[in-house]
Amino acid sequence: MKRIEQAYINGEFAILHGTEVFDLINPSNHEKIGEVVLGDETDTQKAIAAAKEAFKTFSKTTIEERIEILKNLKKAVENREEELIETMILEYGGTRQFCTAGFQNMVGAFEHMIETLRDFEFERKAGKTLVQMTPIGVVGIITPWNSSNGFICSKFATAVAAGCTVVVKPSEMSALQTQIIVECFHEAGLPKGIFNVVNGLGNVVGNEIVSHPDIAKISFTGSTQTGKMIAKGAVDSMKRVTLELGGKSPNIILDDADFTQAIPQAVFGAYMNSGQACIAPTRLLVPQSRLEEVNKIAKETALQVVVGNPTNENTNVGPMVSEKQYERVQSYIQLGLEEGADLLAGGIGKPEGLEDGNFVKATIFTNVRNDMRIAQEEIFGPVLSIIAYENEEEAIAIANDTPYGLAAYVTSSDESRAIRVASQIEAGRVCVNGFKHDPLAPFGGFKQSGIGREFGAFGLEEYLEPKSILV
Ligand code: NAD
Repeated sequence: MKRIEQAYINGEFAILHGTEVFDLINPSNHEKIGEVVLGDETDTQKAIAAAKEAFKTFSKTTIEERIEILKNLKKAVENREEELIETMILEYGGTRQFCTAGFQNMVGAFEHMIETLRDFEFERKAGKTLVQMTPIGVVGIITPWNSSNGFICSKFATAVAAGCTVVVKPSEMSALQTQIIVECFHEAGLPKGIFNVVNGLGNVVGNEIVSHPDIAKISFTGSTQTGKMIAKGAVDSMKRVTLELGGKSPNIILDDADFTQAIPQAVFGAYMNSGQACIAPTRLLVPQSRLEEVNKIAKETALQVVVGNPTNENTNVGPMVSEKQYERVQSYIQLGLEEGADLLAGGIGKPEGLEDGNFVKATIFTNVRNDMRIAQEEIFGPVLSIIAYENEEEAIAIANDTPYGLAAYVTSSDESRAIRVASQIEAGRVCVNGFKHDPLAPFGGFKQSGIGREFGAFGLEEYLEPKSILV
C-alpha cells in the first residue's frame, strides 16, 4: 500500500501543511490500495508563489530551450510506460486497451507540442502593427480522474511551449498515477518552479487556485457543473479560462451506411473508457425504418461486450471509478425504465461474479425519446440510448437538441453527404465514419461543453496574450 504525503513545489518534494487523509480504493474489488495526504490553502499558496517566481525567467526562454525541455519530458514519460499503465488500471479501473492508448497520448502530447512549436509564429503582423504573443503567466491546471495524467501531460506541454509555469491540482482519486508522472517530470530535470503539484480537494486546493490573484489562467477538464463554478470564481480576478466539460455526443448512422459494421462500432464506442469518456457517443441516432434491424445487431453486440477485470487484455468495460459513480449510473438506468425507454441489454445490478467491484452491466435502451433525461444528461457509464429519426433533417435537429456540444459522429457510405451533415452539427469535433483523433486539430466544446480549445496551435494560443506594439 502506498502513501503519498508530499506536494511537489519548486522542484522539490515538499512536506505538506495539510493533514487530511484520503483513501485510495481499487474500484475492481474495493481493497484499499493507498492513501494520500491532502494539501490545503497554505500548500497551494506556496506552489503558486514558486510558479510566480519561476515565470520571471521561464517566460524569457527561447523556443529551442523549450523544445529541449519537451523532449526530456517525453523521454522521461516513455521510461515509465509499464508502471504508468498498470497504475491507471489499478487506480481507476480503466481497461488495459484504453490505458495503453492513454499512455500513447501522454507521450504524443509532448511530440505534438514540439511539432506545433516549430512552425508557431510568436511575432506577427496585423496591419502595420507588430503583434507579440506573450506567455500569459501562471496557469492553474485542474484535472478529472478519467485520464488525469493524459490531461496533465497535454496541458503542461502546452504551458511549456508558451513559456508559462503551472500549479496542478489533479483529482484526489488519481494520486498514485500523479505521483509517477511527477517523478518523471522531476527526473527530466525541469527548471525549478515551472511545474508544481498539490493533491487536494476541489473546494480547498482547487478553490484556492481559482481565487488566487497570481494565477492568470485556469485550464480545467471536468464536469460542466464544476466548470460553471470555476468560471464564476475566475471572474473576480478576470482569469482566462479554458474549460473542457461534459458531453452527450450524438452518433448519426445515415440510411446508406453499412449497419453490420456501424452498429457494433457504435455500441463499443459508447463503452469507451467503460462509458466514462466525455466524447463517448452515447446517443445512437438511427433511421426509424431500420430500428428493428438496429436493435437486433445492437443486442447481439452487447452480448459480445466483456465486462470485468480491467487488467485482462480482452476486457471492454471495467468498473466505475467509485461506488458513488456506480450508484449514479444505477440511478440513471432506473430512470430510463421509469421514463418508458425499452431495455435492450444490461440493466440494474452488477454482472454475475463481479459483485465485489463497481461493475455495471453493458446497458442499451432503445425507443428513447431525445427529451428523456437519459438522453439529455451525461450518465458517465456504459449506458447507450438508441433514438430513431424520420429523415436526415430530423437527425441533425435531434443531434443538436442538447445543452452539450463536445463531440459528434456521422456514418455514411457517401463521405460528402456525411461531411454535409457534420457541418450542421453543433459540436467542437465531428468524426466521420468511425472514431478519429488528430492531436493537432483543435479540441473543445460548443455550448455547455466548454470554453476554448486545446491541442496544437489553437491550444497554444490560449496560453498566450497578443500584445500590439504600435510604433
Ligand atoms: P469534476 O468536475 O467532479 O472534478 C474535476 C476536477 O475539479 C477534480 O480535480 C475536482 O477535485 C476539481 N474540483 C471540484 N470542485 C472544484 C471547485 N469548486 N473548484 C476547483 N476545482 C474543483 O469531474 P470528474 O468527476 O472528476 O470528471 C468527470 C467529468 O469530466 C465528466 O463530466 C466528463 O465529461 C468531464 N470530462 C471532460 C473532458 C473534456 O475534454 N471535455 C474530458 C474528460 C472528462
